[in-house]
Amino acid sequence: MTDSGVDVTLLSVGADLPYFTGYEAMASERLTVLVVTPASGPVMFIPQLEAPRVTANHVEVRAWDELEDPVDLAASLANSPGRIAVGVHMWSLFLTRFQKRWTGADWVPASTLTSPMRLLKDAEEIDLMRRAAHAVDRVMDMIPDGLQFSGRSEAQVARNLAELTVAEGHDEAAFTIVASGPNGASPHHHPGDRVMGEGDLVVCDFGGRLGGYYSDSTRTFVVGTPSHHQLEVHAAVAAANEAGRSAVAPGVPCQEIDRAARAVIDQAGFGEFFIHRTGHGIGLEVHEHPYMVEGNDQILQRSMTFSVEPGIYMPDELGVRIEDIVVCTDEGPDSLNRASRELTTVA
Ligand code: ZN
Ligand code: ZN
Repeated sequence: MTDSGVDVTLLSVGADLPYFTGYEAMASERLTVLVVTPASGPVMFIPQLEAPRVTANHVEVRAWDELEDPVDLAASLANSPGRIAVGVHMWSLFLTRFQKRWTGADWVPASTLTSPMRLLKDAEEIDLMRRAAHAVDRVMDMIPDGLQFSGRSEAQVARNLAELTVAEGHDEAAFTIVASGPNGASPHHHPGDRVMGEGDLVVCDFGGRLGGYYSDSTRTFVVGTPSHHQLEVHAAVAAANEAGRSAVAPGVPCQEIDRAARAVIDQAGFGEFFIHRTGHGIGLEVHEHPYMVEGNDQILQRSMTFSVEPGIYMPDELGVRIEDIVVCTDEGPDSLNRASRELTTVA
């Protein structure tokens, strides 16, 4: 904060607060806010009714009762600050009131301070992410022999995958995409009542949370026997995934990971159908810095964690995506996901 000229940092809902304190604020009309000033040290204001369950490290906790105004209490800790960093998820309901209290201040997103810290994972964080990734891998491994696709809806299979995600060791399932046939062309398709059958490609992209940290992996399966065209598209994505992961090393700009994966898909003639960036950082949030995208010249460093997930999306026809979570190490890429990347048949 001192280096950045920030006089006050406000953290509320979102991942920054648990990163520093171990406590995750409930998104609510009752304000929870950590106020950090160089003078007073960190003070977290919480609604009194939450007090029985709040344990937070490294901060002083002050409960406010239903008749007090938490914005007034929090704002009293700093007199006309010049620059204020505010957590990117703070509700405008509270932010606009803070802005009335501290007029004329320069407001910046707290991510300018917290992102460089959260980018680099320590051994404990990577261990949680590895355990989460392996849990997803075990579910992926079960799919070919354990789950029936043909004659069932995407939503039914999605429910099974979410249950297995928890059964294999996550605290909770976070998201489940099952996108079959033409629905596969929508990268974030919401699983619905489409009933799957012979010849469908099915994109399965799911993850959960373990100790606060996320898993996120994708494999694409085929119901029955794949066509030559489906095999060709899948092979291009698998090669792009491999090229993207292989390009990972300390000192490499993020955009080079995107370029490495995209070049393979371009060369196979499917470039116009790869409609998103190659990857996103992951940790306490499913999507966080660093992003593997053209134009991002941020340099990869040891202990950064992110996805490599190229895909091909052909409208009204099919989609294929293969996604792994990778740790950048001194030796190069360490893929936390190890499940088969072949186009595997499901029943
Ligand atoms: Zn995913
Ligand atoms: Zn992802």
